[in-house]
Amino acid sequence: MSDMPALAAADPEIHELILQETRRQDEYIRLIPSENYASEAVMEATGSILNNKYSEGYPGRRYYEGQEYIDRIETIAIERAKALFGVSHANVQPYSGSPANQAVYLALVKPGETVMGLGLPFGGHLTHGWGVNFSGIHYDSAQYEVDPETHLVDLDRVETLARKVRPKMIMCGGTAYPRIWDFEGFARIAEAVGAVLVADIAHIAGLVAAGAHPTPFPHASIATTTTHKTLRGPRGGMILSDGTHAKEIDRAVFPGLQGGPHNHTTAAIAVALREAATDDFKRYAHQVVANAKALAEKLNERGFRLVSGGTDNHLILIDVTPRGINGKPAAKALHAAGIECNYNTVPFDPRKPFDPSGIRIGTPSITSRGMTEKEMPQIADWIDRAVSVANDEQALVRIRREIAEFCRGFPAPGIRV
Ligand SMILES: *Cc1c(COP(=O)(O)O)cnc(C)c1O
Repeated sequence: MSDMPALAAADPEIHELILQETRRQDEYIRLIPSENYASEAVMEATGSILNNKYSEGYPGRRYYEGQEYIDRIETIAIERAKALFGVSHANVQPYSGSPANQAVYLALVKPGETVMGLGLPFGGHLTHGWGVNFSGIHYDSAQYEVDPETHLVDLDRVETLARKVRPKMIMCGGTAYPRIWDFEGFARIAEAVGAVLVADIAHIAGLVAAGAHPTPFPHASIATTTTHKTLRGPRGGMILSDGTHAKEIDRAVFPGLQGGPHNHTTAAIAVALREAATDDFKRYAHQVVANAKALAEKLNERGFRLVSGGTDNHLILIDVTPRGINGKPAAKALHAAGIECNYNTVPFDPRKPFDPSGIRIGTPSITSRGMTEKEMPQIADWIDRAVSVANDEQALVRIRREIAEFCRGFPAPGIRV
């Protein structure tokens, strides 16, 4: 993605910034767990002329002419999604993960009705009922928390809350939860209170597709996801379901919430789903988890306090305060050293969200570059060193040079420098 002669001629300023961002993505150890490197094939489909076409509606039922190829592309994406996740219905039109969730709310609950989700400070997502989000503004939101000691989702607490508030819908899944989701346990609770269970697998979709995390089906009747995190596709969203709410979901996405689908994205989703069905991808997803476990073990040995003690998936949440530093300065020091992560609250964080106690890291991107357990001690060592010399700019720059050199040995998919 570095050869863009038309762009270079038409808009040198934007062209140059894209080149610089390309270099940045190549030279950093990217540990933000929601990010990845999409393949060159996915990027080509995303940048294709499908961008030019309007196609409101669904395959065979469109409001514009000229859909003979678009219909086939969207149908292929739908069929691949259904096959990969073993479901009977898939909607591939949501513009991203948040609109996918919004469509599910629109399909299942009326404003003012009660919904339940994991609170944002405990690893949930904004769209799971947080106050400043549409989901907390328009719905009566009851938020569950993790256990104060173990930092695990405690189904007894979830059940107590569910029996008290009788939600119409229960969301499970999160953005900063390092452990396995017990979809079966959630389903028992949802059934007992007459709620629909929705699993948001935005972060773990790639792991689920590869069998590296249990699937939400048949326990949940609906799963929402992004397509650009562990699934390694274009930025987009999908709603998968067992078919019981298929009509309401399709109607909620269009015309309920969106206009024309992004056909270039739909095509790239189809490409990513084909890639995700391969043995290579299965190996990739299991390696993501193996890398996260290896990295967690090394960080534990170096005195970092890991939320819940470790990880079962692709991400690690670290309380860095025992190392004498807070989350934000730690994230800034790591960035200066060539390691990209984000500062994050930890459960029951005494500090504020804009300056919290933790950082969040993950292994999807580095695994896409071919790194394995062998490289994790070295990465843990750099994290340790960067945090120890957080105020020494020279020392951080020295680490950054080592890391840029190291990264050259692991070419990133979709990036040519
Ligand atoms: C990333 C994420 C989303 C939102 O996806 P966007 O594409 O950023 O809108 C929703 N739910 C969860 C759990 C996520 O991690």
